[in-house]
Amino acid sequence: MKLKIGVLGLQGDIEEHIEATKLALKKLNVEGEVIWTKSGEEVLSVDGLIIPGGESTVIGLLSTYGRALDAVKEKILEEEFPILGTCAGLIIMAKRAYDKIVGQTNQELLGAMDITVERNSFGRQKESFEADLHISVIGEKSFRAVFIRAPSVKEYGSKVEVIAKLEEYIVGVKERNFLGLAFHPELTNDTRVHEYFINLLQEYKR
Ligand code: GLN
Repeated sequence: MKLKIGVLGLQGDIEEHIEATKLALKKLNVEGEVIWTKSGEEVLSVDGLIIPGGESTVIGLLSTYGRALDAVKEKILEEEFPILGTCAGLIIMAKRAYDKIVGQTNQELLGAMDITVERNSFGRQKESFEADLHISVIGEKSFRAVFIRAPSVKEYGSKVEVIAKLEEYIVGVKERNFLGLAFHPELTNDTRVHEYFINLLQEYKR
């Protein structure tokens, strides 16, 4: 079974996600290819998708990205399609989002996960930082997480599992085939998050 994984986007840390996913496939000894997914057609052709960080309002406004997002919406209605969203990707996956400073942003969202996400949750003083996290689904060993103007999850539905917290902030969630993280797992050389996502993909691919 060969997997085809897409990394969606027009800007952001796309290359880093592609490299981390390739490395994770190699470590797991799973056959697969990783493509940079820009169009709706490409979205329809993959078994699972990564939505990277960036600036969620900007990427939501880009028209090509908009069409690719429509394809994702179509696909998640038809099948259990695994998606990993990181940082801005987590925001885009949410049903509800607002900004800590400016409030409502009325931005384009996928609405895949039953969560409310607060953008820029950590404020301006703490724009970027690193922290050791316990992520329940990847094992006991802590994960060095990079946070860049990160969001956090403020409310979640009954089917959502909290998989990582930083103090009182919820920074990792899972809802069936969807995984959302407030930080950037592609910026470290620890590939356990990508390995976990590949396992999830194998579980859902029939
Ligand atoms: N603050 C950005 C947003 O709200 C997300 C930052 C990121 O993806 N690193 O869209």
